[in-house]
Amino acid sequence: MNPDIIVVGSGFGGAVLASRLVDAGLTVLVLERGPWRDTVAVRAAGIERRKPLPRTGGMLSVLRSLRPPKGPRKGIRLNRYGYLEMWVGDGIKAPCTSNVGGGSHIWAALLERAPQGFWDDRAAGLSDATLASHYARVATELKGVRPADPSSIPNHADAAWSNEACFAPLEDGEQPPLGILFPGPDGDLSAVTDENGIVREPLDVNRDNGMFGSPGASKSTVDALFLLPALSRGLTVRDMHEVRRISADKAGGWTVEARDLRGGRNVTLAAPKLAVCAGTMNTNALLLSSRDTGGLSGLPALGKGLGANGDLIGRWPVEDRDSTIGPPSFGRVKIRGHEDSAYVILARGETPPVPGFLYNGARRKAGRFVDLVAMSQDAADGRIWCDKGRIRFAFDLKGSTSYAASMRAMDAVSEASGRPVAYPDTEVFTAHPAGGCRISDDPNEGVVDGGGQVHDHPGLCIADASVFPQPVGVPPSLSIAAWASHVADRIVRSN
Ligand SMILES: Cc1cc2nc3c(=O)[nH]c(=O)nc-3n(C[C@H](O)[C@H](O)[C@H](O)COP(=O)(O)OP(=O)(O)OC[C@H]3O[C@@H](n4cnc5c(N)ncnc54)[C@H](O)[C@@H]3O)c2cc1C
Repeated sequence: MNPDIIVVGSGFGGAVLASRLVDAGLTVLVLERGPWRDTVAVRAAGIERRKPLPRTGGMLSVLRSLRPPKGPRKGIRLNRYGYLEMWVGDGIKAPCTSNVGGGSHIWAALLERAPQGFWDDRAAGLSDATLASHYARVATELKGVRPADPSSIPNHADAAWSNEACFAPLEDGEQPPLGILFPGPDGDLSAVTDENGIVREPLDVNRDNGMFGSPGASKSTVDALFLLPALSRGLTVRDMHEVRRISADKAGGWTVEARDLRGGRNVTLAAPKLAVCAGTMNTNALLLSSRDTGGLSGLPALGKGLGANGDLIGRWPVEDRDSTIGPPSFGRVKIRGHEDSAYVILARGETPPVPGFLYNGARRKAGRFVDLVAMSQDAADGRIWCDKGRIRFAFDLKGSTSYAASMRAMDAVSEASGRPVAYPDTEVFTAHPAGGCRISDDPNEGVVDGGGQVHDHPGLCIADASVFPQPVGVPPSLSIAAWASHVADRIVRSN
């Protein structure tokens, strides 16, 4: 039997959307190109086919695929179970992950809302007020917490870094919650079971729990918090299924052509509705290549308005501390004299996934730096397009005044601390690409309407950051999750 809806991708957008639709009684099939990851939560739920998170296998087991501007048109796949995909464009690079749970395995777990007014005046039926209840609900579900005593958490920005002369204090409520299960006051690290039966171990601050994933499941991930509970309510997830083409079928529904990467065969599936939630780069790529081969038509705004969320990553040497200890992000900081120029977080020193015998040396080296990650609402004047079957994309940071402001803020840290921050000033490395399928009621300006429905393609919707009309300029995943919850609401109402 065909499902009511196929969901492509299982990150923040896909997992939240799928979970809401299952709750509303729809039959939902999620297709995800990556594997279930072997965390305490996934293991305890009885998922049999799991692949380890990267740690000791070296970079080759980490890298799934490369999407370079030259070479094979469809990119180079190195390891179908690999964790990271690297997109390389003109003036911009963007990493994505490949897992059931998508980027929630790599994220630093900072839960931040879009700036006030972000959703207003974009399209009919959409506003900050419309999204408010969705933000509140997903924030609770992602289990964000502000530790009562930050000084009990090694390297937390509110305690361990507050004496740095280059930082100004945050106002009450400005430190965002972290989606981390912290140990209780007694420091007990025993596994706990939540209200949905999901098993997680609290954060062990001495263990690697950063961008290469959280084996104990202390980090909030959407496979554990949304997909596992939804499985018991009827959701179907097919992992290792990469969607290659989508097309409108004659009966008014949708046909999805996918590759079963484990079984090594092609599969064709159909449903009355289809939601694309493959993350900004892959959603744009899927829509562009499907249009290129006649599966979709029109969409004059597709690929316009690509932004990098103002991401600027500065490497800052630290003194007399080990920056590999603590949560994946130490929290938000404000740079003195540049308080309003960028949203800045401190990300911990990350030990690369080297083989075991190199681990201690690599960790010592990683512990001597932190990343200062600045985000801002850049001009979103990049684009993504299909060139003879190859997906190309371009972004020039010089088009955005916000980049210049972030660089001045980094320079101020260098000056005040006497420790120079090293940052790239000609090319962007963004963890948060956005746009290309922007929200607008005008099909010449945007691809989706205020409910996520693709213009002139009934039954097709998008739920990820590709729809953002401009970058949020802060960590975006809470906004992606809230948008997905809103899109699900619209689908249910229209059914
Ligand atoms: C180092 C790092 C730290 C971060 N920290 C934070 C943070 O603290 N806070 C925050 O808000 N955000 C953070 N982010 C960003 C966050 O990870 C992304 O915003 C988020 O994952 C995007 O969600 P998504 O659902 O749009 O896409 P994704 O999470 O990328 O999910 C898309 C899924 O679709 C799958 N997919 C892609 N193409 C196909 C296909 N053709 N067929 C089938 N499946 C497909 C992918 O494998 C993936 O699992 C961080 C990112 C990085 C890299």
